Amino acid sequence: MIHPCSELRFISPEVGYGVFATQDIPRGTFLWVLDYFDRILTPAEVGALQPQLRTIADRYSYQAADGNFVFCWDFGRYMNHSCEPTSRGVGDAFEVAIRDVAAGEELTSEYGTLNLLTPMTCYCGAPSCRGTIRRDDAARHFEQWDEQTRTAFALSHTVPQPLLPFAKLGARDLPLMDALQAGRATWVPSSRDFHIVDVPEEVLFASGHGAP
Ligand SMILES: [Zn+2]
Repeated sequence: MIHPCSELRFISPEVGYGVFATQDIPRGTFLWVLDYFDRILTPAEVGALQPQLRTIADRYSYQAADGNFVFCWDFGRYMNHSCEPTSRGVGDAFEVAIRDVAAGEELTSEYGTLNLLTPMTCYCGAPSCRGTIRRDDAARHFEQWDEQTRTAFALSHTVPQPLLPFAKLGARDLPLMDALQAGRATWVPSSRDFHIVDVPEEVLFASGHGAP
């Protein structure tokens, strides 16, 4: 579920749609949470999809740390990647704003932690743009990403969290929720630990993404 102070806007034929803030949103706010409407697909289910549905799944779903694919039910699935994103994933269920977001700014996330099936050319235009986003980017950049996430999450108990009641918590979220309720900073899981090295074989064979 995407933050309520956001809206879907058409950007350009090349980019398609994006999600934009309709109000200022402070750092530490959860901009997206996994909720009970989000559809979870196993690798076998993704591999068995009809071609048209598979195209949609490849574009709008991501592979979570447990290996399953998450298809967002609302317009949160139109959040674009940026190499200097407004939020990063923390725990299993949260995207936390790593800086203050101004009204009108596009909400962006880091696809480098989403276990991309194929490398993606990036046109985000950020000074630190990596050019190509790869499945294993977290293995190279996790130290900087984790520091941003940790300092942002330390503020999460100080700002309004309209999405919190809707979060579908995973095992990695429980220590985070304890810290949040106690109003203290905490260790956060490393983005490196969300990386799945191998693309599931059943997904590869069905898609032609690199079947042997
Ligand atoms: Zn980029």
